[in-house]
Amino acid sequence: MSKVMTGDSGFRAVAELCSHRQPSDIDYLERALATGLTGTSLIVLEFEQAITAIYGVPHVVAVSSGAAAVMAALKGFDWSPGQEVIVSPTCPICTVLPLLEHGLVPVFCDVRPNSFGLCPDDLARLISPKTCVIIEVPMWGYPVAVDETQRIAAEHRIPLVLDLAHAHMASLRGRYLAHYGDVACFSTHDCKFMSTGEGGFVMSQHEAVASRVRSYTRFGNLDGKSPGINLKMGGLQAALGVARAPLLKQHLAIRQGHRQKLKALLDNAHFRELPVTPGGSPSGYALLLQAIGHDGRDLVRHQVSHGIPSDIRKYDNRPLYEYPLLAKYSRHCPNATSLLRSLTTIPLHPDLCEDDLVHIAHVLNRYRPESIEHAYA
Ligand SMILES: *Cc1c(COP(=O)(O)O)cnc(C)c1O
Repeated sequence: MSKVMTGDSGFRAVAELCSHRQPSDIDYLERALATGLTGTSLIVLEFEQAITAIYGVPHVVAVSSGAAAVMAALKGFDWSPGQEVIVSPTCPICTVLPLLEHGLVPVFCDVRPNSFGLCPDDLARLISPKTCVIIEVPMWGYPVAVDETQRIAAEHRIPLVLDLAHAHMASLRGRYLAHYGDVACFSTHDCKFMSTGEGGFVMSQHEAVASRVRSYTRFGNLDGKSPGINLKMGGLQAALGVARAPLLKQHLAIRQGHRQKLKALLDNAHFRELPVTPGGSPSGYALLLQAIGHDGRDLVRHQVSHGIPSDIRKYDNRPLYEYPLLAKYSRHCPNATSLLRSLTTIPLHPDLCEDDLVHIAHVLNRYRPESIEHAYA
């Protein structure tokens, strides 16, 4: 029986959370119990190797969360407190709070029209001798033009950090996005593409960067010379990671299939899919729909009132500098503002069945913007 038929609340539970649980979870948890639970135990190394094998990026450091991944990734480079990090105002506050903890100053760069990718012109304007890092944050599995950002960053010799917490398995021109940065951060929080409950990892092509990152997550290797803290992933989380890593490619295929099926079922001129960056392949973390000629929050309200959750509601559809904590870093970013206002997210996770997709399409196809409904009421 379709999950949507169990009523709105039943559907909501299913649509919000991908049940990541695997039969092999218990086997690997037992293995961790038998071989060690610390962040330096064998099972954590196994998890790192599994991620390396999937992404083809040689150095992976497992950490305790996505926020820990950002904290640690930044320590892969030289900077002093008070220096600036360029980042888009369309990312979650989870990317920016770690900067503040390091005493770094966020500088908000506008995005390209209808994209979460940094606008090259605004980026060029903002780069200064104070800039120590540039961060790209592709959202909901939609690739951004990281190749272009990489080119600009390299030209100015500024490290490029990718926060790929939303972009597991997303690719550009046939390569996973992680290949385009100096370092990439991932979260494996339970609501992300891959879950270990809490957790994350950092990956890099550069051995020197990875070694600094690893050292930072282990109290500077306790050498008494290097700074650090404990941000290691524990053995139980890593065990779930080892059990679930083999499913990443299968889940990618299912999510991408869901995206295609749903798009084929949608027929409503009031919205469209967010344009995909040329050469990009979205991961199907969510389907991003963009309201045409009206406020996307109408669409969000419509779907939510019919039991289809919208992840973008967590972010309140506004740029980060509108939050009190970040107000002093406010800048005028018109593309970011109109992008966030125009969007909603539709779940695509692997547990959805054919009937669920048909139901979602039916709800979305019936949608009329509130302003238009009022006009004809
Ligand atoms: C979820 C998320 C984080 C934080 O990850 P946690 O595992 O919750 O600490 C950081 N950045 C982005 C882009 C995220 O989506």
